[in-house]
Amino acid sequence: MAATSRGTTPVPPESRPRLTVLSGPSGVGKSTVVAHMRKEHPEVWLSVSATTRRPRPGERHGVQYFFVSDEEMDKLIANGELLEWAEFAGNRYGTPRGAVMERLEAGEPVLLEIDLQGARLVRESMPEAQLVFLAPPSWEELVRRLTGRGTEPPEVIERRLAAAKIELAAESEFDVTLVNTSVEDVARELLALMDVV
Ligand code: ADP
Ligand code: 5GP
Repeated sequence: MAATSRGTTPVPPESRPRLTVLSGPSGVGKSTVVAHMRKEHPEVWLSVSATTRRPRPGERHGVQYFFVSDEEMDKLIANGELLEWAEFAGNRYGTPRGAVMERLEAGEPVLLEIDLQGARLVRESMPEAQLVFLAPPSWEELVRRLTGRGTEPPEVIERRLAAAKIELAAESEFDVTLVNTSVEDVARELLALMDVV
């Protein structure tokens, strides 16, 4: 494994799970890594979650998220349409079940980018899933990235940093940790873990 990885021995290719979950504290660089990876490998399918959070500038419905109202989220949950869902920093987020199951049934690799609570729920319902934790090089760097992104007001940053402390303490629950020092390196390692390259 490259220097950015720590954790358990890599799973041999023949028994590699098809479902990979990427989690890590807000601001660590999950979206950046996934975007970089998909620029090079557009065939990697990423689940698009539903969220009650308002779109950030440039985010589009159906691309980064399905932006839904509280009532629509209530319905998705009540109708069992979500594989998992969680409340994170004041908003709800959930993974649409149908699209994920279709891809898995077709034998295609599936990537979920979800929070710690969601990762735990996936582990319960799909123990064969591979859980990957994206860690910051340091706490100071995480604060710098989250603040520097400039997408959240100070009180939301505080909530996200409080959640980050909890998420960082749960790193050992994951199969592998990738430290996001270099976006290119992490994207390459994630592809290898997903058995795409
Ligand atoms: P997340 O999706 O985990 O919340 P983002 O992908 O939005 O995080 O990244 C948060 C900020 O950190 C962004 O401004 C992004 O450009 C920056 N960033 C991501 N990865 C790195 C990296 N390896 N080195 C420096 N800055 C990074
Ligand atoms: P953001 O608001 O920064 O886009 O996402 C906040 C957090 O919600 C991130 O940790 C992200 O991974 C997580 N998240 C996004 N989609 C889902 C989802 O469908 N389920 C869960 N549990 N978390 C999600």
